[in-house]
Amino acid sequence: MNQLVKIINSLTYKELKAIQKDLAEGNMGRLIAKKISSIEKSASFNDKTCPTCGNKMNENEARYTLIFGSEIKKKASFCGHDCLTFFINKLKVQHLNH
Ligand SMILES: [Zn+2]
Repeated sequence: MNQLVKIINSLTYKELKAIQKDLAEGNMGRLIAKKISSIEKSASFNDKTCPTCGNKMNENEARYTLIFGSEIKKKASFCGHDCLTFFINKLKVQHLNH
């Protein structure tokens, strides 16, 4: 959202009026939906690599998915419980060292 505020603040009056019109007509929503759909269909979005063992999986094969982070959310998918546990232990060690 912060990035969007920066973009909006950098726009001219004319550009803002054009975006306002696009929002009112629903063009912006359609554009965002189209972009999200194309990202979700891409191979790189659907093919996951287990960060612990490097195993390649597709969305259905990922047995555990971890979403972590506060401001910036990170998502990691794991092929098994052992890989998830190893990753969490690694995070714990990193946390203790900071
Ligand atoms: Zn793994």
